[in-house]
Amino acid sequence: MILIKNGTLLALTDEGVIDTGDVVIDGSRIFYVGKEKKYDFVFDTVIDAKDFFVMPGFVNTHTHLAMVLMRGIADDVALKQWLQNVIFPIESKLTADDVYFGSLLGLMESLKTGVTTVADFYFHMDAVAKAVKETGIRASLGFGLASKFDMDTIKLKLAEKFVSKYNNSENGRILASFAPHAPYTCTLRFLKSISKVAKEMGVVVHTHLHETEKEVSDFKKIYGKSPIQKLYEEGFFNAKVNAAHCVFLDENDYKILKENRVGIALNPQSNLKLGSGIPDIPKMLSNKLLLGIGTDGAASNNNLALLEDMRLVSFLAKGLSNNPELLNAKELLRMATFQGAENIGFSDVGLLKKGFRADIILVKKDNINLLPNTNPYSLIAYSMYPSDVDTVIIDGKIVMQNRKILTVNEEAVKKEIHKYIKKIHN
Ligand SMILES: [Zn+2]
Repeated sequence: MILIKNGTLLALTDEGVIDTGDVVIDGSRIFYVGKEKKYDFVFDTVIDAKDFFVMPGFVNTHTHLAMVLMRGIADDVALKQWLQNVIFPIESKLTADDVYFGSLLGLMESLKTGVTTVADFYFHMDAVAKAVKETGIRASLGFGLASKFDMDTIKLKLAEKFVSKYNNSENGRILASFAPHAPYTCTLRFLKSISKVAKEMGVVVHTHLHETEKEVSDFKKIYGKSPIQKLYEEGFFNAKVNAAHCVFLDENDYKILKENRVGIALNPQSNLKLGSGIPDIPKMLSNKLLLGIGTDGAASNNNLALLEDMRLVSFLAKGLSNNPELLNAKELLRMATFQGAENIGFSDVGLLKKGFRADIILVKKDNINLLPNTNPYSLIAYSMYPSDVDTVIIDGKIVMQNRKILTVNEEAVKKEIHKYIKKIHN
């Protein structure tokens, strides 16, 4: 059992900030949160958190971890050129080992910036799963799928096998999902069968949707409908869907997303950097869509610090609506934790609450940018640097302490990354 004592607790429940409060962790779950010390245990580990904010870790609902390997090599170009001229050719050469070390690097960056859950989708997913297992992070692993000639049925079978193997593994720390790349890289028939199987298996479909204006206008030309409307007609949203981007939406699209409880992974940095448009966050909020936040891959962001995307979501909400009251700091933090976790299939993650998974970060209160310690919600939402995260606990295990990751050898991973860079430049 672990006791975190005397912390400033941001539980993100209905309760306000708790000063000098304690969190008791029993196994992988939170047993107690409060200041009345209603417990009597002998603890294996006691963490004195008097100098820390204690809160749920951040949840990155859309990323491609191993794309950190392509960080900085394709800037200042549009999505189509970015994918076809740079990213796809490199990806075709990536080995499982490259993806494993790339994922480890991406996970180290995630932990160092307070992210305790990631929803990844890529290929060589066994290699990603290995990296996830070793680091101790919580993850939803999406088996990437795209249509190719007559391979769809075989690919779907492989995906099913992957999902059966990993879903709910590692004490529920790992979930698996089906991850069709996008409506423009998968046939409608394929998307329909993927959704059907995902529903039967009770797992999430994680996909890119309405990322560019061209994707939407091409569908309208062919089908007279947006991708969302066409997919709805095909029964795609019968499964639980986590849709990344959702930039170009009309009234019917909003209605479908709302009625089908589709999770939206907002990736504003990636959208803005690729010049792919601006998600209409005020309209999403007024339609009460289920909003989570993602970083997307580091080739289009170019880092995995969810804090930055979170802040951008807030500023777009306020800026696009000319209304500073829209989306307050606590609501924003809940979006970046609890709601994000729900969207990707974790229903007991993202709050400091009895029975919830113990995914907790400790943030240094006396760092210059966080002084004076006036309003903790505001400080985390608007002032915190990713490097203010000191300790990370996931599923009841201490994964990082004093900014040192305890589960993987950081230096050894860095060495492998240097080797990889040499290899691709030869
Ligand atoms: Zn993406």
